[in-house]
Amino acid sequence: MAETPNQWTSAIDTTRPSIARAYDVVLNGKDNFEVDRAFVAEIVKVVPEIYDVATYNRQILGRGVRFLVDQGVTQFIDLGSGLPTVENTHHVAQRANPDSRVVYVDNDPMVLAHGRALLAENDRTAVVTSDLRDPEAILADKDVRRLIDFDRPVGVMLVGILHHLHDDEDPRGIVEAYMDAVPSGSYLFITHFCASSDDSREAEKKFLAMLGTGRFRTEKEITGFFDGFELLEPGVVALPLWRPDGPVPSELTVGQRLMYGGIARKR
Ligand code: SAM
Repeated sequence: MAETPNQWTSAIDTTRPSIARAYDVVLNGKDNFEVDRAFVAEIVKVVPEIYDVATYNRQILGRGVRFLVDQGVTQFIDLGSGLPTVENTHHVAQRANPDSRVVYVDNDPMVLAHGRALLAENDRTAVVTSDLRDPEAILADKDVRRLIDFDRPVGVMLVGILHHLHDDEDPRGIVEAYMDAVPSGSYLFITHFCASSDDSREAEKKFLAMLGTGRFRTEKEITGFFDGFELLEPGVVALPLWRPDGPVPSELTVGQRLMYGGIARKR
């Protein structure tokens, strides 16, 4: 039977906050429910800047994708892509190079319902509703195979998602599975919640209690995801410090240090 948005919207659970919808709240989107807004209200109590943190993350996503297109990358697998918002990966990449291809992967049914509408007219973009913890299935997916040429460099994006994987889910092994599938000259792009302050530890407690995920890793642990790859300048840093477009403050706030990120190249 053909999939319709109704089938997917019926899978949407409005009794518990979802990662995608809570992120939509902090990006001032409209695709969220009371339960998601209540969760964000709790996070605001410990990190009042959480809305800004989401903006820093979207900004580095844009800078990172532009950087990768500048390196000659025109194909991206955006894992845990989130609900469509402004300046999605394909907007940034296709503006820099119209031939760019992007596969979005997310397991939230709302992302498919909304993503299909946004992407209907773009034959270089696809939305795959799948669990990124199953790299084998994603790498074999027909849309992934249709759009991504695994003989050419790929930008593997795990932006704002690895902290939603617990240690026992082997996030490092998952990163390796994707990177093993792409050729030399491909890139790994990660941003991640960082255990960078007492407030971040309080935020972690709330994430785990209310959302069930949210592992704030240390700078060293985040850097560890890039082991074996050539970590590019400036390394793994607080988001506003990664190849900024303009001046950055000399001292960062708790919110500006709440997430770290970086890009590495597969030799
Ligand atoms: N990458 C986007 C960004 O950084 O702006 C969105 C990040 S959002 C915080 C994380 C997304 O990952 C959500 O849309 C959520 O549904 C998705 N997600 C969480 N666990 C996932 C999983 N196991 N497989 C696929 N997607 C997942």
